[in-house]
Amino acid sequence: MEKLILKMQKLTQNLWWTWKPEVRTIFRDLDLDLYHKAHRNPMSVLKQITPEQLEKRAADVDVPARVDRALRQLQEYLTAPTTWGLTHAGAMRSRPIAYFCMEFGIHESLPIYSGGLGILAGDHLKSASDLGVPLVGVGLLYHEGYTSQVLNADFWQQDVVEPFDIADLPLVPAVDRFGEPVHVSVEMSGRLVHAAVLEVKVGRIRLILLDTRVKQNDPKDVALAARLYGGDQRMRIEQELLLGVGGTRALRALGINASVFHLNEGHSAFSLLERARYRVQMDGMTPQQALQEVASATVFTTHTPVDAGHDRFPADLAAEHLLPLAEGLRLPLDEVMGLGRVNPHDHGSPFLPTVLALKLSRRANGVSALHGVVSRKMWNHLYPGLREEAVPIGHVTNGVHLPTWLATEMNHLYESHLGVDYQSSLTRPATWSRITSVSSAEIWETKQVLKARTIRFIRERSAQTRARLGLPEIEPAPLDPEALTIGFARRFVPYKRPDLLFSDLDRLDRLVNHPERPVNLIFSGRAHPADNTGKGLIQKVAKILEDPRFRHRIVFVENYNIHVGRILYQGIDAWLNNPQRPLEACGTSGMKVVLNGGLHISVRDGWWAESYDGDNGFAIGTGEIHADQSVQDHRDAEDLFRLLEDEVVPLYYENRNAAGVPRCWVERMKNSIRTLAWRFNADRMVQDYVEHLYLPAAIGNSCQMPPA
Ligand SMILES: *Cc1c(COP(=O)(O)O)cnc(C)c1O
Repeated sequence: MEKLILKMQKLTQNLWWTWKPEVRTIFRDLDLDLYHKAHRNPMSVLKQITPEQLEKRAADVDVPARVDRALRQLQEYLTAPTTWGLTHAGAMRSRPIAYFCMEFGIHESLPIYSGGLGILAGDHLKSASDLGVPLVGVGLLYHEGYTSQVLNADFWQQDVVEPFDIADLPLVPAVDRFGEPVHVSVEMSGRLVHAAVLEVKVGRIRLILLDTRVKQNDPKDVALAARLYGGDQRMRIEQELLLGVGGTRALRALGINASVFHLNEGHSAFSLLERARYRVQMDGMTPQQALQEVASATVFTTHTPVDAGHDRFPADLAAEHLLPLAEGLRLPLDEVMGLGRVNPHDHGSPFLPTVLALKLSRRANGVSALHGVVSRKMWNHLYPGLREEAVPIGHVTNGVHLPTWLATEMNHLYESHLGVDYQSSLTRPATWSRITSVSSAEIWETKQVLKARTIRFIRERSAQTRARLGLPEIEPAPLDPEALTIGFARRFVPYKRPDLLFSDLDRLDRLVNHPERPVNLIFSGRAHPADNTGKGLIQKVAKILEDPRFRHRIVFVENYNIHVGRILYQGIDAWLNNPQRPLEACGTSGMKVVLNGGLHISVRDGWWAESYDGDNGFAIGTGEIHADQSVQDHRDAEDLFRLLEDEVVPLYYENRNAAGVPRCWVERMKNSIRTLAWRFNADRMVQDYVEHLYLPAAIGNSCQMPPA
């Protein structure tokens, strides 16, 4: 027994299990209720299960053999002699890429993410691990995590701090080469803020997280990193200093000599100044030389074309915090401030970390082809004299980590038709073209299994919410398992227009309650805790759904997170994405849906602008943009209704064969998988970064390095 427990503990110590369903199910099979109560975290399941229960279940569900098998797989994974990374990025083995991000979404039990940016970062680490690309993640450990969403009786979002015990996660102190735990400190307006440096293993990748819960900090500074995106502008700039400066110092203290720094959003831009400061103070470089060297080793990725998505710090707040860095750099404070101003001479204007990052990084990119275009236009004024097309911001389109988001049943289907080893060649179109030979019945039936599971989950969740709010149960249960089921889940902000379909309630009523061709709609999503506009949108939608015309057909699911998301992506027939073009930089939820055989219904924005081919999903509108937003909204609503009524619904219900399989719909599912899956996965994304950005930056960097 003790030996078994030790082995199981070993399995929980690497977050590799987050993308290994066969490992997760070992813990699920021990005690289903406990598993969900423990946020599907194997480590806390193991802590909470009684020895008697473990002993009994171990025999009942063959735990020892499954654990041995999983441990062997983990060992093989960690010690694989050949990987894509070794052959393509071997040069970076001794000097990895440092990937900085304010949030990392790896699993729901580690709530240090809020949404798309964090989940993308988690997927990036996982694919880098699978490919064997030498990379280290750097972020902050928010010891109170992020909030979870609970609606009150008035459908107003309450932001609940979820108790989350760091001891239930495989976080360990990161140690230097003498085996000593590493500790960093960062000066912030006259005081020092300290942080312990912890690490967690994500497959082959180390994720370094700074933790402010140290005794040297006064309680105010312990709270600095309590919560992701909590607090005011001062807390925000201090969190960013901690990430950028503290994160860079942590790497140094650990002896990690990164060849490339990949900064995601402006949040970690202060890393640039810290790296240059070090070269000036320790190696006697001039500030100009140092800044140039730092630039050549940096890749900066901007993730949003929404203006409000870029921090703008008041000049005095920024000056107060930048003084020590400016002194270390031996540059006048005003000059350093100018690096973060659109116009350096515009004293008193706000300081933008994004501007700092763009000015001081040799390589910059957006996250889809269209977002590249939009970013070049958006930041053209930073490059006076350059035409828009010449602005040095390229693009790498995002992708999603297939093993994280794929349903087990779909994985089996792919293994049997694309080849058991298909996951090692995800980025090859030839791998996916074999989907055409799968029988329509097989792919359709697989989808029905997933759909039944999703609908069951939604009904349970919805019933729980209603019981808590004292609302009457819906009888019969909402959602028709036979009906076309469309999902919409994303952050509730005006530009994503979660209420677009609710602009014409009578037409919506006719759509969802059609006697022969009904439609289910599932909505989910959260607003930022400080965003009352977003919360108002949730309230508006949730209230409309109480209308007796909609209660049976449209459901709002609370607390959209990785867990809820995964279940939605896997089971719905189609996914709706209707933002104001071109404000969705990329969008990745639709990609997760496509991998699971769902169809994407979207405005031609983000990744859809470069991937819709007329036959692999559905496009809302033509992509033209009207200057008047209300006219545009009206047009898009009209287009969306027409598309659903005339194309999506008929395709789903017509042309069924004797077994009830909708032939044309399934044909489109296959087209979607065949044309999209090879491109919009995170392996392809990481490979693009390696080949087009990391390697050139690493090489440019090493040329300018003084001889060792
Ligand atoms: C994938 C994902 C996102 C990002 O999806 P978008 O399409 O960019 O909105 C956000 N939240 C969760 C939980 C996700 O899984």
